[in-house]
Amino acid sequence: MATLAPTAADTEAAAGGAPAVRLTGIRRSYGAVVAVAGVDLAIGAGEFFTLLGPSGSGKTTTLRVIAGFERPDAGRVELQGVDVTHVAPSQRAVNTVFQDYALFPHMTVAENVEYGLRVKGMRRRDRRVRAETMLERVRLPGLGDRKPVQLSGGQRQRVALARAIVNGPPVLLLDEPLGALDLKLRQEMQIFLKALQQDLGITFVYVTHDQEEALTMSDRMAVFNEGRIEQVGTPADVYEHPQTEFVAGFVGVSNILEREGRRITIRPEKIRMSDEAAGEGEAGTIRSVVYVGMVTRYVVGLDSGGELVVVRQNLETSSQDALSEQGKRVRLSWRPEHTYEIGKEGT
Ligand code: ADP
Ligand code: MG
Repeated sequence: MATLAPTAADTEAAAGGAPAVRLTGIRRSYGAVVAVAGVDLAIGAGEFFTLLGPSGSGKTTTLRVIAGFERPDAGRVELQGVDVTHVAPSQRAVNTVFQDYALFPHMTVAENVEYGLRVKGMRRRDRRVRAETMLERVRLPGLGDRKPVQLSGGQRQRVALARAIVNGPPVLLLDEPLGALDLKLRQEMQIFLKALQQDLGITFVYVTHDQEEALTMSDRMAVFNEGRIEQVGTPADVYEHPQTEFVAGFVGVSNILEREGRRITIRPEKIRMSDEAAGEGEAGTIRSVVYVGMVTRYVVGLDSGGELVVVRQNLETSSQDALSEQGKRVRLSWRPEHTYEIGKEGT
C-alpha cells in the first residue's frame, strides 16, 4: 500500500522530471490473444491521464500491469523513476478503483474506507477520524455506519474512491469507474472526479471507452487500438489533429476526404455550409439531415467525390426547417488551418 504522503525523495524525483508512471515495451498475451502489443508511455506527476479505446483494445490489461496484478511478458514498469516490474502489487505506491467497486459487503462503509489503514497498523481512533474526513471529501458525511447494500450505485462508487485515496497514493488507477452509472450521474461524477484529482494533486490514470468522457476530463490521453497506442496528446490535439484514420473515427466523427492522393480530415463544426449560389467552396448535395436538438447534423455528398458530416447550431432553425433541407444543393468551405492530413510525416 502507498505511504500516507509522498516522501521528500518522491517529490524531488517528480520535480526532477521522473514521470509518475513509465511503461517501456510492455507486452502481454493470453494464449494466442495479444492483449498488449508493445506499449510505451510516460505519465507526468499530477496529470489526469486517460487510456481511451474500444472494448478489447488492451486498456484494462495495461492498467493491471501498472498495478502489478498482471506480469508483462516483456517490458518495464517504473513508478517515480523506480523499476517495479517485479514488485508485488501491495508494495507499489498505487491504488485502484474498479468499475464494480469491489467493496467488502460484510463491512460497514467506514470499515471499508479504513481497511488500508488497518492493514498498515494505524490506531483505531486515528483511522476513524481519517475515514470520516475521506467520506466528507467524497460528499458522504455521516454514512460510515451503513453497509454497502444500503447505498445507491453512485454512493458505493464514492466509497470505493474514499477507500482508494485514504492512504494518500501518489497514483490512482481507475478502470471505467463510472461505467455502471446512468448518464446524468455519470456527468456529475466526471466533474466531481476531475475536481477531486486537482484538489488532491495526485496522478490519475483513467480508463474509459467513452470519447466524450476522455475529452472532458483528461490533461492528456492515449488512444488504444488492438493492444497498441495510436496517439498520445491533449484532448484538443487528438480531436483536432488525429494522426491515424482510426483515431479520426474513434474520437469524434470521421470526416475524411481523399484529394490528390492526400487524406485530410475536417471536424464537422469547422465546416461552413452556404447556398450553392454563394459560389465559394466545394459544391454538393445534402443527402441526409438529422435534427439532434441543440444542433442539426447534415451529410453532404460532394460533386468531386466523398462525403462530409457538417453540424450547425440550431440558433433560429426548427426541426421542420432543418428536415426540409434534404436534397438541397450547397457549398462547403473551411479554413485550411482546420484541416489535418492523415499519415503525414513529422506531425
Ligand atoms: P479493454 O480493457 O480495452 O476492453 P482488455 O485489456 O480487457 O481490453 O483485453 C484485451 C484483450 O485481451 C481482449 O481480447 C481480451 O479478451 C483479452 N483478455 C484480457 N484478459 C484476459 C484473460 N484474463 N484471459 C484471456 N484473455 C484476456
Ligand atoms: Mg477494460
